Amino acid sequence: MTESTFTAVGLRDELIDNLASLGYDSMTPIQSQSLPKILAGQDLIAQAKTGSGKTAAFGLGLLNAIDSDSRAIQALILCPTRELADQVADALRKMARLINNTRIVTLCGGVPIKGQLISLENAAHIIVGTPGRIADHLVRESLDLGQCKTLVLDEADRMLDMGFEPQIDAVLEAIPAANQRLLFSATFPKEIAKLAEKVMHDPVMVKVESQH
Ligand code: ADP
Ligand code: MG
Repeated sequence: MTESTFTAVGLRDELIDNLASLGYDSMTPIQSQSLPKILAGQDLIAQAKTGSGKTAAFGLGLLNAIDSDSRAIQALILCPTRELADQVADALRKMARLINNTRIVTLCGGVPIKGQLISLENAAHIIVGTPGRIADHLVRESLDLGQCKTLVLDEADRMLDMGFEPQIDAVLEAIPAANQRLLFSATFPKEIAKLAEKVMHDPVMVKVESQH
């Protein structure tokens, strides 16, 4: 049996105390299967359909490890589109509400880079962005990922469909070789398996089948 209550998995109080305001009573299947492994520091590949609660699975996992007293970027989440990045950032801000001064910054294409450069002059703990714009910031050296503890590839199948593999490669060059890697995907074509081989260190795989 997989435990389905959030309180049993060892989340910090600021996350537990906020669950009611999120309306989360119990974990969804993908959360109960992946969150304990994420909290244990393992690399993880999770396959589950849209709407299954993947954002909170990685969001609560990485927020549990955020040190908001540090100024360093500690987590990077790559999303295929600006709309998805904005949604993920909104969800993370809600989850982080009780953790003092957690700063979550979105870096997406289609937005003037100047404001992003100014925004990066302040502390940022979590970056949510699209691969193209993140790669631009790496070229400009406006983004220091040297202390990034967690990399999340959200909707990895869509990012590959959109041709973002070179930008993902650039990110891999910029993050610590041994940090935690989490890959979320609704589908698992062979291209994802190849990407996973490059990105992940000995990952656990969890798959939640669609309920009918
Ligand atoms: P996915 O990324 O798998 O498509 P989301 O993370 O966007 O799914 O979650 C879908 C919806 O489910 C969101 O509105 C989210 O707030 C809600 N949700 C996530 N986890 C829970 C939970 N444990 N209990 C209730 N609602 C949840
Ligand atoms: Mg999602």
